[in-house]
Amino acid sequence: MNRAFIALGTNIEPRKDYLDQAITLLSKVDDIQVIKKSSIYQTPPVGYTNQADFLNMVLEINTLLPSDNLLDICQEIENELGRKRVIRFGPRTIDLDILVYNEENMKTERLTIPHPRMSERGFVLVPLNEIAPNLQIPGLGQTVDELLVDLPEQEKKDITKWKMAESEKE
Ligand code: ATP
Ligand code: MG
Ligand code: MG
Repeated sequence: MNRAFIALGTNIEPRKDYLDQAITLLSKVDDIQVIKKSSIYQTPPVGYTNQADFLNMVLEINTLLPSDNLLDICQEIENELGRKRVIRFGPRTIDLDILVYNEENMKTERLTIPHPRMSERGFVLVPLNEIAPNLQIPGLGQTVDELLVDLPEQEKKDITKWKMAESEKE
């Protein structure tokens, strides 16, 4: 059994539905079990800032799939949930990124693990720290909580736990 962590991000409404649907679709895959879910965090956009706020969360999964097949599944789910690639780092219904896969430290044309930008992203490290603070990030020689301590305050100060407004609940 392989242990992996996946980051989810969305900034097109209905954002919570996209997160829920992505988790449901992942759980439906025979060779994937969702083990842990972080809370949902609301985070301002980074990089391309002229877009709506994101909801972000991280999942821990067990899987029999090798990492490249796991990426296939992630991309199929992105497509199924209507992901369009118009602007790099731009608005998206759902983004599914593989953060960590076992101890893998690898780079192919379509897949880099650990995710190359995870250690500079508060919207990844804050939810990941909630479910796996002691996880060692392969190749970096640091745990998630160590990476988070080293992250500039600026990158984490606006990341807050998200709570669905009363008016949005069914
Ligand atoms: P970022 O990767 O900086 O978070 P993004 O998620 O918006 O940006 P995408 O458009 O989702 O970028 O993906 C671009 C490409 O990244 C994909 O086609 C995929 O092949 C590649 N990729 C490389 N490593 C990974 C990984 N660990 N997880 C997901 N996709 C990856
Ligand atoms: Mg991404
Ligand atoms: Mg992506």
